[in-house]
Amino acid sequence: MFEVAGKALPGLHDAHLHLEWLALRNLTVDLQDVPTRRATLERVRRWAARLPKDAWLVGRGWYNDGWRDDPSWPRPEELDEAAGGRPAILTRKDGHSAWLSHSAIRAAGLRDEDQGPPGTVKEAMVAVARRSVPEPTEAEFDRGMSAALRALAAKGLTSVHTMDTPRAFRSFQRLHAAGRLPLRVTWNFPAAELAAAERIGIRSGWGDDRLRIWGVKAFLDGSLGSRTAEMLDGTGMPVLPQDELVELVGRCSAAQLNVCLHAIGDGAVRRALDALESLAGAWRYWRPRIEHAQCVHPADVPRFKPLGAIASMQPIHAVADREIADREWAGRTAYSYAWRPLADSGVVLAFGSDAPVEDVSPLLGIDAATSWRRRAGWHPELAVTRPTALRAYTAGAAYAAGMERKLGRLAPGLYADLTIVDGKGVVATAVGGRLTWRRA
Ligand SMILES: [Zn+2]
Repeated sequence: MFEVAGKALPGLHDAHLHLEWLALRNLTVDLQDVPTRRATLERVRRWAARLPKDAWLVGRGWYNDGWRDDPSWPRPEELDEAAGGRPAILTRKDGHSAWLSHSAIRAAGLRDEDQGPPGTVKEAMVAVARRSVPEPTEAEFDRGMSAALRALAAKGLTSVHTMDTPRAFRSFQRLHAAGRLPLRVTWNFPAAELAAAERIGIRSGWGDDRLRIWGVKAFLDGSLGSRTAEMLDGTGMPVLPQDELVELVGRCSAAQLNVCLHAIGDGAVRRALDALESLAGAWRYWRPRIEHAQCVHPADVPRFKPLGAIASMQPIHAVADREIADREWAGRTAYSYAWRPLADSGVVLAFGSDAPVEDVSPLLGIDAATSWRRRAGWHPELAVTRPTALRAYTAGAAYAAGMERKLGRLAPGLYADLTIVDGKGVVATAVGGRLTWRRA
């Protein structure tokens, strides 16, 4: 039992994020937005103090042009000292350069003439240098994963759907066996693993209420930011040809595995719906999902519901993408990030964050879906009401994992998964009646 003051919501449930990337981030030192060279080196020093003696020190995000004290290019000897002699590689904010310590330069087999300014490498050499960094051990990876899960509980989440490779799934199993999985995790695996799942006979829902396997993630297009979203006007970059997509969806359905179809542009969304339409058979938990659905042609909105297609959307993307959408999707923003028309047509919405691409906070996501559009003056008619947004972050996400009889509402017979909030944010989270985080 526990006592906290606040308003209890059904546990918030993120329907699309990437725990593997979040875990890996915890294994590297984040130097973004550190204002000085001195503070950057101090942060490296503190990070090094937590590492074994010979471990690699890996980091990212430094930006010398922003350093107020000394914006000159960094030097390897500074890093030798700060990293305690360890091999260290720190990628610049733009990803095009890396700052190396002397032992990293040696370990990577680089010579002076490979380098850009002293102590840094540029462009292709960054990848060469990165290749000498050893993969994290299982124990290291689990440590990063545990930290990622704790951080999600602190943001108010009690369940997540994650899109990850088997490396992450193995980690979830180890943590679960040790009783160290503080959230309910639903794993969606890459289409590359479908053949293995078919051979074994894994079906959607295998696992338990803490860790389960659900869907097969496949990409139909790229993204708005990289100009690879597949649009009806013929621009963008289709990834999966239609015949292969139809075959994939058919195999998944036959194997009783759900599909999570990444489709961002209106062209990719239409192809996803076409592929689902070509399928005759449905089984009890056939709950195909279209991931992102950032631009849906109005003619396609009414097609979701009859197909049982779930719209798995991340409202926070609209906040981040607004300017580029105005530029790239001019004339189409009236039906982009169109949560409201989909909700009104009776489609099940499942909201998430796509973290670490965007901020994981569900409270930010709810704000983005509800009042942000009015504040921003950007197609406010596409915003949803607060109850609709909450439902998408609770019951909708639970439905999208086949767990609506166990999660997503506060009702007798369901798990006591709670997110307790007040005017300042998340007060506490509880999973199955047990406190998983509380504000100090
Ligand atoms: Zn994603």
